[in-house]
Amino acid sequence: MRIILFGPPGSGKGTQGDLVEKKYGFPKISTGDLLREAVRKQTLIGRKVEAMMNQGSLVRDDIVEELVRQRIKSPDCRHGYLLDGFPRNVAQAESLEEMDGGRQEIAIEIEIDIPILVRRLESRRVCSCCGTIYNLSLQAPGNEGRCDACGGSLFQRKDDDPDVIKERMRVYRERSEQIKGFYQAKNVYRRIDGSGSVEDVFNRLSYVLDAELAKLEANKALG
Ligand code: AMP
Repeated sequence: MRIILFGPPGSGKGTQGDLVEKKYGFPKISTGDLLREAVRKQTLIGRKVEAMMNQGSLVRDDIVEELVRQRIKSPDCRHGYLLDGFPRNVAQAESLEEMDGGRQEIAIEIEIDIPILVRRLESRRVCSCCGTIYNLSLQAPGNEGRCDACGGSLFQRKDDDPDVIKERMRVYRERSEQIKGFYQAKNVYRRIDGSGSVEDVFNRLSYVLDAELAKLEANKALG
């Protein structure tokens, strides 16, 4: 099973992806995380993509596609995986088919109002050690500036700056309709309401996933 989770920046894809990984065992692959890691380590790729990411623009397709191609070859992806932030356009969606075509898939869009998103992004903080995500108004850490899980220092992503957020929203709107159309045509598109608490959204997501997994099992049983 391949789960493609998409939705605007701040819609909670990362958090929901982590919860899916924990409950269903499908590793979460976030291209944003892979790219940020490359920037942090200042690898060849990291140095190439840093400026684009800081402006909120998309990184070149071939760079991101190669990262995904390598990652999904890992043994932990054998039974399935969840993609967060990929594909971001139809060319990437087509490239995914070419990389790993026969796999059963479902593309789930998390829908949410833009003003809610902007507020969420501006108050998002991330742990520099373990990547845990906090929200200063909804899920603030116990000690200001420190991660509850590991004590690491919290930082604000450079692309969570208000001007950069506007640009990321613009880029998302421009591409998301095409991605939606692509998966609707394959009859694997679903959408869930992204408002409410993390648990509310995860309950909706689990409902959709449980139905899909049950279908998959039933098809297997039929041979
Ligand atoms: P995210 O963490 O998904 O919001 O991604 C952060 C940034 O990483 C984006 O604004 C892009 O610059 C870059 N990025 C992540 N995924 C992709 C992708 N699939 N294609 C191009 N750029 C990406």
